[in-house]
Amino acid sequence: MIRKIVSILILVCLVLSITPYAVAVETVEALRSDASVTVNDVRMPLRAYNISGRLYVDLLEVAVVLSGTENQFTYRWSERNRTVNISTGRAFSAIGFNTSRRIANARQATPAEINFLVDGDELPISAFSISGETYFDLRTIAVIMDFCVVWDPFEKSLEIDTRRSNTDSVTVKRIDPDKPMIALTFDDGPSIYTPPILDALEKHNAVATFYVTGSRVRTYSDTVIRAFEGGNEISNHSWSHPRLDRSSEQRIRSELQNTNDAIEELTGVAPTNMRPPYGAMNQRAKTISEELGLSIIMWSLDPFDWRYRNANYIYNYVMTNVKDRDVILFHDLYESTAAAAERLIPALIAEGYQLVTLSELFYYSDITLEPGVAYRNAVP
Ligand code: ZN
Repeated sequence: MIRKIVSILILVCLVLSITPYAVAVETVEALRSDASVTVNDVRMPLRAYNISGRLYVDLLEVAVVLSGTENQFTYRWSERNRTVNISTGRAFSAIGFNTSRRIANARQATPAEINFLVDGDELPISAFSISGETYFDLRTIAVIMDFCVVWDPFEKSLEIDTRRSNTDSVTVKRIDPDKPMIALTFDDGPSIYTPPILDALEKHNAVATFYVTGSRVRTYSDTVIRAFEGGNEISNHSWSHPRLDRSSEQRIRSELQNTNDAIEELTGVAPTNMRPPYGAMNQRAKTISEELGLSIIMWSLDPFDWRYRNANYIYNYVMTNVKDRDVILFHDLYESTAAAAERLIPALIAEGYQLVTLSELFYYSDITLEPGVAYRNAVP
């Protein structure tokens, strides 16, 4: 019972973070057509759609694949009230279930308003209508029933394990080193314009790198933690944004060290690279960076977002000039940059670019980042 209450609390938090979509959204095939789903290590048929980085499934099929496990359930569907009534702990009869059903050839999903009751309690769940059928957010179901879901969007595989708790659930992020990839980097924040950028990244299952100024880290600690927990890289852009090439040795050291400490205090991870304010470096700043174990990261594409403050311009500039292994410079201080990012993230993915962190970009390009050495892009 306590476990269930905890699960419901987690669920409420989860659902509050779900953005309702006012319009039809693009769906992506989520699983391979061959048997790529396992339930407690046994291959099972299950269809699923990837909608904005979440996995949506047919409730009937979930009931079938879970029958016989300790998480089995039955349900009743009322078309008139658009209500699903789930009863947990009862075996679902799979008789007559057609396992040959394949994923519908649908591109678009529209939000579905469904009353979702579990053992009599109404719970919020995100659902979509695709080709006349309703699909439910698997992660929410897994939280309610407390089973583990491991989803790998790159391999298009799904593992359901009812012997493990939901707290083990993960979406495995895979990067294909042979396909194009770029790193979006955001300097000078965090600010009030960082959360909409995080929204856009999360929605598209993408990540970026945030070169934060240390003096803002505590003020925006919630944003930093959210970015970090979303798989983004948090890195060092000095404490107060001075020109390091005109700063004393002592100043350079404290600017970089204090920022690393502030980031580590929040995330538990100290940055291993830095971006100098204005891109300005000299030998002294390089030597101190090397001593502190920090690589120096410049950029290969600069849309001058701080100068133009125009989302259309930024969007067009990046889409026209972007190439494989680019490091793109933005500043998450401007509304226009956030607006451009909201359009650029899905557009770059549609062009075939994997959006990865700075460290991932170099790692998957077989380039070892050395402390004190400057890099512009990940072209070997
Ligand atoms: Zn800067």
